Amino acid sequence: MFDILIKNGFIIDGSGNPWFKADIAIEEGKICKIGRISISEADEIIDASGLIVAPGFIDMHSHSDFFLLINPRSESKIRQGITTEVIGNCGFSIAPLKPDKIEIMKKEIGVLADEVTWDWSTFKEYINKLTRQGSSVNVAPLVGHGTLRLNVMEYENRDPTKDELDEMKALLAESLEAGAFGMSTGLIYAPGSYAKTEEIIELARVASEYGGIYTSHIRNESDKLLEAVKEAIKIGKNANIPVEISHMKSAGKQNWGKVKEALRLLKLAREESIEVTCDFYPYTAGSTGLAACLPPWVHEGGIEEMLKKLQDPALREKIKKDIEEGIEGWENLAKSAGWDRIVISYCERNKEYEGLSISEIAKIRGTNPFDAMFDLLIEEEAVVGIILHMMSEDDMKYVMKHPLSMVGTDGEGYAPYGPLARGKPHPRNYGTFPRILGKYVKEEKVLTLQDAIRKMTSMPAQKLGLLDRGLIREGFWADIVIFDPLKISDKATFSNPHQYPTGIEYVIVNGVKVIEKGKHTGELPGKVLSPKRMM
Ligand SMILES: [Zn+2]
Repeated sequence: MFDILIKNGFIIDGSGNPWFKADIAIEEGKICKIGRISISEADEIIDASGLIVAPGFIDMHSHSDFFLLINPRSESKIRQGITTEVIGNCGFSIAPLKPDKIEIMKKEIGVLADEVTWDWSTFKEYINKLTRQGSSVNVAPLVGHGTLRLNVMEYENRDPTKDELDEMKALLAESLEAGAFGMSTGLIYAPGSYAKTEEIIELARVASEYGGIYTSHIRNESDKLLEAVKEAIKIGKNANIPVEISHMKSAGKQNWGKVKEALRLLKLAREESIEVTCDFYPYTAGSTGLAACLPPWVHEGGIEEMLKKLQDPALREKIKKDIEEGIEGWENLAKSAGWDRIVISYCERNKEYEGLSISEIAKIRGTNPFDAMFDLLIEEEAVVGIILHMMSEDDMKYVMKHPLSMVGTDGEGYAPYGPLARGKPHPRNYGTFPRILGKYVKEEKVLTLQDAIRKMTSMPAQKLGLLDRGLIREGFWADIVIFDPLKISDKATFSNPHQYPTGIEYVIVNGVKVIEKGKHTGELPGKVLSPKRMM
C-alpha cells in the first residue's frame, strides 16, 4: 500500500513541458509511481481533479536563517508552495559564529535576538540545531562572506592580512565540509562591502574546491550595475565557480532599461563557459535596512560606533554631503531612490512610522529627511527596515521572461501571529510565487504556466546540484505543491502584507502533508539538505 495517492491531477513536472494527466503515488517520502493507479492501492487519497500538481517550489534567495529558529513552520513560505529555502544569502548567515562575536550578531538582529538560545558556534552546530528543531520546509544553507569577515575582522575597513584571509578560508572550508552549498556575498553591506574583488576570488576558490556555488548581492544595482555584474562574472571565471546573481534589477529611474545589458553580459559570459544565472522577485520595490543608506565609512567599527557617529553634528553634516554628492564606488541608495520612495517597513520603538516614507516622517518631526533618518537610526539602535520603490515593471518583466532567471523571494519565513507578525514587511515574503502564477501567468500571460514552474523548481534544483528534487519523477523526493490555477493569487500588499495567498490547496514536503486543504498541519518534515558535490 502506498502512503498517499494523488488522483486525477494535471501534472506539470518542472521540466518546462506542458501538463499531462496521471496519478502520483508516494511512499516513504518519495515519489514511487506515476501513471494510472487504483485507489485501492493507497492508504490515503488526495483528489486533485481540476488542480495542477507540480514539484514543490525552491526559493533560491531566502533570508530565513534566524526566523526558522523562532518559527520552524515558516508559514509565509510554505503557504506559497515553497518546499525548500536557500538561506544565508547576501553575505549574511548566522553561522559560523565565534563565541565572542555573538553580541555583535545579536545587535544586527535586534529585539528578536532574545527569542532564541544562542548555543551554536560552528556551521555544523547551527545545522544540527536546525535539524533537531525541525522545520516545515527543507533548507539549503549558504555561508555568508560578511559573516566570515565579521568573525575574523569585525567591521574593519581594510584588506585582510594573510593570516586573517587564511582564517576566513578555514572557517569557510569547515562550513562547506559541514554541508554548506556555497558562499554568498552582499557587497553593499558592511563588513562584506570592505572586501576587494581579489579577496572574494580567493575565498570563492575554496567554495569551488568543494563543488559549491557563489551567490551575490552585487556591489551596485543602480548607476554601476554593469560594472558590478562584470565583477561577479570575473569572480566566477577566476575562481572557476558557478555564479548566481541575486535579485537582478536596475534601481533608480535613471538606470531603468539597464537590465537588458546586464542579462546580455550573462549570456556572453556563458558563451565563454562561465556558469552564471540570476534570480528575481516580481515586484518593483526592494527591501533592506535603513542603515544601508549610510556611506561605508559610517559602518566602520560596528553598530555602536555608527550610532556614536550619528550623534556627532559635524559627522552628520559629512554624511549629508556624501549622500548629496556621492562617493566613488559606493551605491548611494537614498539618492537613487529619493526620500519619498523609501518607506519604513519595521521600527520597534516608533511603530506609528511603519508604512510612512522618510519624507513624511521628516515632515511630522519638523525636520529634514537626513536628520529624520539619523535620529530614527539612533532611537532604534540601527534596526530599521525599509522598502525602496525604485524599479520599473518593464525591467522586472524582462528579467522574468529571460531564460537565465529563476525565482527567489529575498524574504523571510514570517507568520501573521506571534513575534513575527511585526511591521509591514515587503509583500514578497508572502506573495512571490503565487503572484507570478496569478498576476503574471494567468492574468498578464508574461510566462506560460510550465515555464514559470520550471523557473521555480528544476532550474534552481539544477543550480544547487539537488539531483533528486525539483521534478516530478519516480525516485525523487515527494516535495509537491497542488494548486488551483484559476484561484491562485497573492493577497499580500505593501499596506497589508501579512496575508496568505489563495489557491494553494496542498503542500507536501518529503512525503508529508504540511498544507492540507489550505490549512497548516503543524508538521515539520523538512530536512537540512546536503549538497551533491558534482565536481
Ligand atoms: Zn540582497
